[in-house]
Amino acid sequence: MPMTHRRIIIIGTGPAGYTAAIYASRANLQPLVLEGVQPGGQLTITTEVENFPGFRNGIQGPELMEELRAQAQRLGTEIASETVLSVELGQRPFRLVTESGAYTCDALVIATGASAKWLGIGKDEDLGRKGGGVSACATCDGFFYRGKDVAVVGGGDTALEEALYLTNFASRVHLVHRREGFRASKAMQDRALAHPKITVHWNQVVADLRTRRFEASPGNEVEKLGSLLLRDIRDGRESSLAVDGLFVAIGHRPNTAFLQGQLPVDANGYLLVEKGSSRTVIPGVFACGDVQDSVYRQAITAAGSGCMAAIDAERWLAETSTSIPKETTHV
Ligand code: NDP
Repeated sequence: MPMTHRRIIIIGTGPAGYTAAIYASRANLQPLVLEGVQPGGQLTITTEVENFPGFRNGIQGPELMEELRAQAQRLGTEIASETVLSVELGQRPFRLVTESGAYTCDALVIATGASAKWLGIGKDEDLGRKGGGVSACATCDGFFYRGKDVAVVGGGDTALEEALYLTNFASRVHLVHRREGFRASKAMQDRALAHPKITVHWNQVVADLRTRRFEASPGNEVEKLGSLLLRDIRDGRESSLAVDGLFVAIGHRPNTAFLQGQLPVDANGYLLVEKGSSRTVIPGVFACGDVQDSVYRQAITAAGSGCMAAIDAERWLAETSTSIPKETTHV
């Protein structure tokens, strides 16, 4: 199996991975980035991004990722279209196995992100990708629903936080939950239940999404969410709820399967890093972006933590370079 050795490998191409690559390139580390199955990460499935500093008129998510990619490459980053299947972190150099080969590296930056969980009914993920009125991020997309009616699905802290945030824009926020009781913190529940703009629909699941098609501009037909088909889990009764937007807030899944338990995670599966740094428990292994952040999950915080990871890695390499065993194979 061909084997390539690099001083630093970065796994993931969201804002965290690309920012780590930009900093590592400028530190002359010639990073290799392995981009994985969803190059560009979650921003490639959003439409307009208005909250990333530096773009006064906003920027399309895929375009922002193209810019970050080009910036990293211009500075000397190499990007390989490879998905990491497994890693061995118990040895130096670290070893990574991908679909087509294997790599070793002295320092590893994990920036594999988290994936929003979708309902898996009535093409919610597809509408989410196309800006069709479904989203998994109120902070990103809430602004587009000024004066409109929206729904949020879920009963955890994320759902209630998103519902409260959406009251800043929407005229009504319908909170749809499958049980008769939230799992969110008491404080969050009190705020949501007391809010005059929030209506809770207990014991309801979203059974289907009803869409409408219209011509947004000559020759450009778009499909948008028009209403939800709700089903009462107690008696199966169905009802229709007209909304312009649906926010799916049923949790995120950090992308850590390839680590096979070699790094500790918190109760929700997010990688643990030393407070105020990107260092994991294994010296030389750093984590940044959503894979280690269940709280902020924003492009700009991911980018910031990517910068931290590259600086931490650079310093660690400078301190330990003499003690890292030389690689065994080069191709
Ligand atoms: P959670 O796993 O806590 O909650 C997910 C919610 O979605 C649950 O209410 C669950 O219902 C519901 N759900 C799951 N699957 C489905 C489905 N298929 N259909 C309908 N509903 C579904 O995820 P969160 O993202 O809310 O929170 C993750 C962690 O992050 C938690 O520890 C949370 O406390 C923390 N967090 C903290 C915040 C803060 O402190 N400000 C803000 C946001 C998150 P059910 O209850 O029936 O299982």
